[in-house]
Amino acid sequence: MCKILKPKRYVGSIFKIDFEELYELGYRGIIFDLDNTIVPWDENKLDEKTKKLIDDIKNLGFKVVILSNNWSQKRVKHFSKLMRLPALGYALKPRSRSFKMALEIMGTTPETTLVIGDRILTDIYGGNKLGMYTILVSPLNKKEVWIKRWTVRLIEDYLIKRWLSKKELIKEE
Ligand SMILES: [Mg+2]
Repeated sequence: MCKILKPKRYVGSIFKIDFEELYELGYRGIIFDLDNTIVPWDENKLDEKTKKLIDDIKNLGFKVVILSNNWSQKRVKHFSKLMRLPALGYALKPRSRSFKMALEIMGTTPETTLVIGDRILTDIYGGNKLGMYTILVSPLNKKEVWIKRWTVRLIEDYLIKRWLSKKELIKEE
């Protein structure tokens, strides 16, 4: 059901991902969502653990781009500076255009690129459409603006529950 929406993998957080293994498998680019994937949506700081992970990922040889739907260019630029990574805000995911721009920045192909994010209908759907390897993470902050909580998230939560119950998806904690 809804194959185009289903992530290839589902993990508890970005810290559960074995980036070394993925590099060895041939992946070279990573399109990272920002809010609730790398930092809680209401947080302005980057903790040391996250900073180290980003540095480790870069040192492995990955090209990385932050792709965010956040309308605040100020916030996106702020984290772009902190992580020393190129970042695109107001990306209108799942629209393909911004994913293609990210690929262009990294110089990678869809086949060698990972998409990592906490939203099925934006991050995962957008990545799957272009044939990229998609990894869903649990959102860092469950509290969201109520309108989001009661609309799109409900559909996403329903899909995740269904995939898990049918064993079509396994959560890696
Ligand atoms: Mg997000």
